[in-house]
Amino acid sequence: MILGATGSIGEQALDVASRSADLRITGLAADSDWERLVAQADATGARAVALADETAAAAARASGWDGTVHGGEEGVRELIVSARPEVVLNAIVGSAGLGPTIVTLSEGIELALANKESLVVGGELVTALAEAGDARIVPVDSEHSALHQLIRSEPPGVVDRLVLTASGGPFRGRSELGGVSREQALAHPTWEMGGKITIDSATLMNKGLELIEAHHLFAVPYGRLDVIVHPQSLVHSLITLVDGSMLAHLGHPDMRVPIAYALHGPDRIDLPVEPLDLAAVGALTFEEPDTDAFPCLRLAREAGVAGGTAPCVLNAANEVAVAAFLAGEIPFTGIPEIVDRVLAAVPAPPAAHFADLYERDREAREAAERELRSRAAAGGAR
Ligand code: NAD
Ligand code: MG
Repeated sequence: MILGATGSIGEQALDVASRSADLRITGLAADSDWERLVAQADATGARAVALADETAAAAARASGWDGTVHGGEEGVRELIVSARPEVVLNAIVGSAGLGPTIVTLSEGIELALANKESLVVGGELVTALAEAGDARIVPVDSEHSALHQLIRSEPPGVVDRLVLTASGGPFRGRSELGGVSREQALAHPTWEMGGKITIDSATLMNKGLELIEAHHLFAVPYGRLDVIVHPQSLVHSLITLVDGSMLAHLGHPDMRVPIAYALHGPDRIDLPVEPLDLAAVGALTFEEPDTDAFPCLRLAREAGVAGGTAPCVLNAANEVAVAAFLAGEIPFTGIPEIVDRVLAAVPAPPAAHFADLYERDREAREAAERELRSRAAAGGAR
C-alpha cells in the first residue's frame, strides 16, 4: 500500500513496484488529486483508495469508478485497516503523515517510512508503538537507508558514529540569503523532490529533521550523529567504526534505490540505474555545514537534544513558515527566524500520549501564525 501515491516518492514507488513481480498494490492514498489516484489504481490493479480531501473523494465516487473510495481524515485509517497490507509505504508530506504511521504500527504492519516528519513529531511514542506491536520501521530516506544497510552488516558494539551527508542545497557557500527567490530555492542541485522537502533542503532544515529521524531510527544519541556537506550527493551516508575504519554507501541520487531496498531488502532487484563511473566523477568533496548562514540545522539539533515535544514544535513552526515562504509572505531568512521564535515561545514538555503531540502541533502552528501576523503588521513581509 502506498500513501502519498501522487507525490514524488509515491510515483517512484509505483515505478519500483512495477518492476517487482512479487508485489501487489492493495491500496493507494493521496490528498486531493483523485483523477491521478484513480488512474494509478487502475494501472496497478488496486481496488481501494483514500482521499484526504472530502470533496475529491466525493468526485471520485461520482465518477463511477468501481473500486472503494475512502474519504476525509478517517479515510486513510479505513483503507489500512480494511486492506491489511503486509507493508505500508508512508510517503505523505508533513505531519499529516503521523496519523497513518500510528495506524500502521498499531495494526502491527511493517512501515516503510519516507515521511520523516512522523518520526520527528512522534519520536519515542512512535518507536515504542513499533516495538510494542513488533512492527518494523524501515527507512526510505536515502541517508537512513544507507545507514541501515551499513549498520546491519556490523556486529553489535563496533559502530562508533553515524555521518549523514547533505548536498548543501542551492545556496551552499552563500552567507547573504535575505533576497533569494522562491524559484531559486526550489531549484535543487542534485535531487528532484516535492516542494516542501526542496525548501527544507535549501534551509538545511531537511538535514536537521534527518538528524532527529536518525536518532530515533537507530537509537543513537545526538553526540554520535554528525552532518557533513557533500555537494555531489553521491555518498549517501557513512559510519565510523571503533577501529578507525569508515564505511560509505555510494550511488547515483535516485530514490528508486532506497525505495526498492525498503520493500525488498536485504534482497535487491534490477533497476535501470547505472553504478557510478568514478573516473568520470573524479572527485568527491566534503565540507563543514555553515550553521550561521543556515541556522535551521542548529535549531533542529538543539530541539532534538532538548527532547520532549521540542521537535514537534520545530516541525510545526517549520511547516507554517515554509508554506508562508512559498506563498511569498516572508523572505527565505524568515523561515529560521519564525522557527526560532516559536521554539522560544511554546513550552515543550514530553508527550505521554499521541493526543499531547496533536495539541503541541496545534499550539506551535498558532504561535507561528501569530509571528506571521506580527511580521506583516510590522511591514516585515516582502
Ligand atoms: P510530494 O509533495 O511530492 O507528495 C506528497 C504526497 O502526499 C502527495 O501524494 C499528496 O497528495 C499526499 N498527501 C498530502 N497530504 C495528505 C494527507 N493528509 N493524506 C493523504 N495524502 C496526503 O512530497 P515528496 O517529495 O514525495 O515527499 C513525501 C515525504 O517523503 C516527505 O515526508 C519527504 O520529506 C519524504 N522524502 C522525500 C524524498 C524525495 O526525494 N522526494 C526523499 C526523502 C524523503
Ligand atoms: Mg534524505
